[in-house]
Amino acid sequence: MTGLRAAGPTVSRGYVAAAAVALVALVALSGCDGGPTVPSGAAASASSTGTTGSVPTRTAPFTPPTTIGSTPSTTSAATAAPSPTPIVPTFVWEVRTATAADLGSSWHRGCPIGPESLRVVAVSYWTFEGRVETGELVLNAAIAERAQRAFARLFELRFPIRRIRNVAEYASDDSASMAADNTSGFNCRLIGNGSRSWSNHAYGRAIDVNPVENPDVLRGTALPPAGAPYLHRADRPGLLVSGGPALAAFTAAGFSWGGRWSSPDYQHVEIPR
Ligand SMILES: [Zn+2]
Repeated sequence: MTGLRAAGPTVSRGYVAAAAVALVALVALSGCDGGPTVPSGAAASASSTGTTGSVPTRTAPFTPPTTIGSTPSTTSAATAAPSPTPIVPTFVWEVRTATAADLGSSWHRGCPIGPESLRVVAVSYWTFEGRVETGELVLNAAIAERAQRAFARLFELRFPIRRIRNVAEYASDDSASMAADNTSGFNCRLIGNGSRSWSNHAYGRAIDVNPVENPDVLRGTALPPAGAPYLHRADRPGLLVSGGPALAAFTAAGFSWGGRWSSPDYQHVEIPR
């Protein structure tokens, strides 16, 4: 939820093996996340162009190594069976430069960065119902590749996410977005608690993950209120917990976690400037 405060799964084995291949392809494509002098890979070039045009980048097409109902074939190659049905969904991470229209009420003049510094990302994720869906995440271009690594790992883990939508769909109301258990990034707003400082969300450098399962704790109270049952931080689906693989996906990519703050914000991960 907030930005600046004092710093404080179930896995399918067969899937992981195949997904690891996908991740390798993905990492190979995106290159390192490093300095501006190493714009390797399509994602890097997309995030560094600064154009307002659509510059989609897509992870490499992935050909699954296994097929459903693999009957040992004794027929000749001339049989030419139809293409096998993929059983491993592809992780999608498509990046384009944001426009003011994309950002709607989440951005206005006077915000600390402009739309040209932000990226709109189409990202695939697993739902709590076990489906793969595509969400929309708005992030600072400077952290897009690191976020890609984190979300690719979450996908590999089948870490469940309720939804990922542009916060503008909730009138940029953080309380409404949290109540909807919406995972989101950019929102040009101040830190809570009456502060006059910009949240790291206002820079697109923070992401709130499953806010109900990972509530922000203010004076012992969960925000959103529906997050109250999750103040007890047992490792359950959709939770970021210390030592858990989902949190590790973020920390390995360079994010720090609000769950370590003295007043914990379990949903919040960030890469400050
Ligand atoms: Zn946050």
